[in-house]
Amino acid sequence: MPSIAIIGGGVSGLTSALYIHKALPDCAITLYEEDNRLGGKIKSEKQSDFLFEHGPNGFMDSRQEMLDLCEDLELNDRMIKSNDASAERFILKNGKLKRLPKKPPHIFTSNFLPLHAKLRLMCEPFISKSGKEDETIYEFACRRLGKYMADNVLDPFTSGVFGSDCRKISIRSAFKVLRDMEQEHGSLFKAILTKMKNSPKKKQGKLSSFKDGMEELIIGLRKKLEDKISFKTGVKIEKVSESETGCEVSYSGSSELYDIVITACPAEPTGNILQSILGDLAGEVKNIPYTSISVVPQGFRSPKPDHINAFGYLIPTSENSKVLGTLFDSCVFNGRAPENTFSLRAMVGGGKDPDITKKTDEETLGLILAENRQTLGIEKQADLHKIIRWQKAIPRYELGHWKLIEKLEELTADKAIFVTGNAFYGVSMNDCVTASAKIAERVKNFLESK
Ligand SMILES: Cc1cc2nc3c(=O)[nH]c(=O)nc-3n(C[C@H](O)[C@H](O)[C@H](O)COP(=O)(O)OP(=O)(O)OC[C@H]3O[C@@H](n4cnc5c(N)ncnc54)[C@H](O)[C@@H]3O)c2cc1C
Repeated sequence: MPSIAIIGGGVSGLTSALYIHKALPDCAITLYEEDNRLGGKIKSEKQSDFLFEHGPNGFMDSRQEMLDLCEDLELNDRMIKSNDASAERFILKNGKLKRLPKKPPHIFTSNFLPLHAKLRLMCEPFISKSGKEDETIYEFACRRLGKYMADNVLDPFTSGVFGSDCRKISIRSAFKVLRDMEQEHGSLFKAILTKMKNSPKKKQGKLSSFKDGMEELIIGLRKKLEDKISFKTGVKIEKVSESETGCEVSYSGSSELYDIVITACPAEPTGNILQSILGDLAGEVKNIPYTSISVVPQGFRSPKPDHINAFGYLIPTSENSKVLGTLFDSCVFNGRAPENTFSLRAMVGGGKDPDITKKTDEETLGLILAENRQTLGIEKQADLHKIIRWQKAIPRYELGHWKLIEKLEELTADKAIFVTGNAFYGVSMNDCVTASAKIAERVKNFLESK
């Protein structure tokens, strides 16, 4: 009966445990988590009937693995879909909210783009594909779609997903799907048209969550795994080393031996833990940069103003704000705020202020109040709020990140060591779940080959 240690109890570690248990029910799995609670970045908190999310607020229902996972965890009747109003999204431009077209073709018929940007966009099918092995999202967007689209769509969108500046992030690692569209079809438009022709009825994904917030996923995973694996919470793993008898997992003066180890923690602890196995590469892993973000959920005990009836808005770098964007939380999902009240959630910092988490409560709330006042016309401070400071919120996949992953996979290919987590295979929860399913397959193949 092979023994397996999983290090990290976020969604990556927990789903790895579940998939491995399903693929190899006879394995003895132990999951180590440094914190006393499971979930990592996923945490939902109730404050006087307002539901505040510390990390992710939802996932797209377009990934089959995630949908199967929810079904397996018996969460289907706990799942909620975003309201129709949240199909409306805005971008701040010259201090005013501009409505984003709901579907790609509407970009030409709406007034979101000025004429020169529409004309530039129409050139996209005639631009030849890049021969470079990687470029930043900004370079890619400028080249294919024009500077206006890069500054006003890709820039805020990247901030919304990564909290980072698109001038620093690799298209190949962060939005591989766009690069693949270019490489395979020669143009994004041609790729979209082919996709529409091949699957005309395919619906766009909808943002989804659970009645009591994203943490229901973690509670569901824990419940499902409770009698199948061992949990060791409050245990910080310091080191994993290989010996002739297996992999030694060390923490606070003790160590335990396993046949296989899977790390599912952020980049820095991964590099530290695997130092003796990865050698020089451990330094590169540890140095994967992260953005710092403060998340500020706010509850207002007054009826929602009529104009706050959308998903929310994102702020491009050109607007010179430290706020990345504001989500109209209680419009997106029902049950996030009591009747006749509303809630917002601002994200501050990221590429716009790397030191954001060092700001005092007063300074942070000052930024939010000014932003709410200027853009939304909300004059008062929220009645309830929370400031969640994520010093290492989201990993930044910079140029060449893909090479690091290749080296990592090469170096660990014949070892009983597997690396996963959002620093490596995508930052969305969907990506984390897909990566866990792949890890389980790789572990199974590894054991079968022995
Ligand atoms: C503010 C914010 C908003 C987000 N919004 C969304 C969203 O709306 N939709 C979406 O899909 N994604 C979103 N994400 C991204 C998503 O939440 C994360 O990518 C995902 O939750 C990461 O899961 P993980 O398990 O890979 O890592 P983590 O959640 O970071 O878990 C890693 C775990 O490893 C543990 N650990 C670290 N070191 C050790 C050690 N030495 N020993 C033992 N344990 C250790 C940590 O304590 C932690 O619990 C958001 C992220 C943030 C921060």
